[in-house]
Amino acid sequence: MATIQEEIKELKEEKNAIILAHNYQPKEIQEIADFLGDSLELCIKASEIDDKDLVVFCGVDFMAETAHILNPDKKIVIPDLEAECPMAHMLPEEELLKAKEEHPDAGVILYVNSIAEAKQHADTLCTSANAVKVTESLPHDEILFGPDKNLGTHVQERVDKKIIPTPKDGHCYVHRLFHVEDVELKREEYPNAVIICHPECNKEVQDACDEVLSTGGMLRFIAESDAEEFVIGTEIDMITRINSEIPGKKLYPLLEGAICKTMKLHTLEKVRDALKNEAPEVTLPEEVAQKSLKAVNHMLEASK
Ligand code: SF4
Repeated sequence: MATIQEEIKELKEEKNAIILAHNYQPKEIQEIADFLGDSLELCIKASEIDDKDLVVFCGVDFMAETAHILNPDKKIVIPDLEAECPMAHMLPEEELLKAKEEHPDAGVILYVNSIAEAKQHADTLCTSANAVKVTESLPHDEILFGPDKNLGTHVQERVDKKIIPTPKDGHCYVHRLFHVEDVELKREEYPNAVIICHPECNKEVQDACDEVLSTGGMLRFIAESDAEEFVIGTEIDMITRINSEIPGKKLYPLLEGAICKTMKLHTLEKVRDALKNEAPEVTLPEEVAQKSLKAVNHMLEASK
């Protein structure tokens, strides 16, 4: 009897499909993915998949929506439709429109972790990998930046513009689990390790760590570093990704319990069923997708 991995492989060929997966996916999904990456890498990949008919997106809602915005004629499916990013939903369209009214001269940069209804009103988007570069690419002196307040603070410290967090306290509940005490404990436990965290962590945690990097940035940094030990302050399965890509380094989680529950909703069975049924499909109203494309393309251009 064929294993589920073999079934997935056969279905993928039959449907001319590609499986894209985020770095926070569980090990078994990472193993069957055709392409693994952070939000920016997945966006770039999604803009280059002309030769495939079906995309299975193992990530959260806003990522699959972005793939749809970039490929409106392609079928994008997500193994579990409940896989939503709570942070993305912290900035509803009405709240962004209100902020724009209050700050009519400000540029609008949304983290790619935002809903498409909000994205359509942004000048550009950013990911944690390119937020500073994208912010510098806008001519405005004031920037409405959302939904992640911590990424906004990270950008504020690196640019000569005024960042206005929108909403005031948008955050990722997973990265908010890290505290300075966790960093201090790990420093005592692993004195030779480089401690790295993600810009979605609180400012105090960012300040206490040695490096603040996106997940793609973490991979590049560790691959190029002479250090042998690293403490990783982001979602737990980033360690799975680094281990498979750069074997031989010693990796320790900043916190074992840093788990994004919705990222883990996808299973091999659901991936197989999504391929077989070509569902559940991720779509957006045509007008929203078209209006959001401008901001997505601006980000891709500014990241070059
Ligand atoms: S880790 Fe945080 S920001 Fe990323 S998908 Fe999960 S909840 Fe959203």
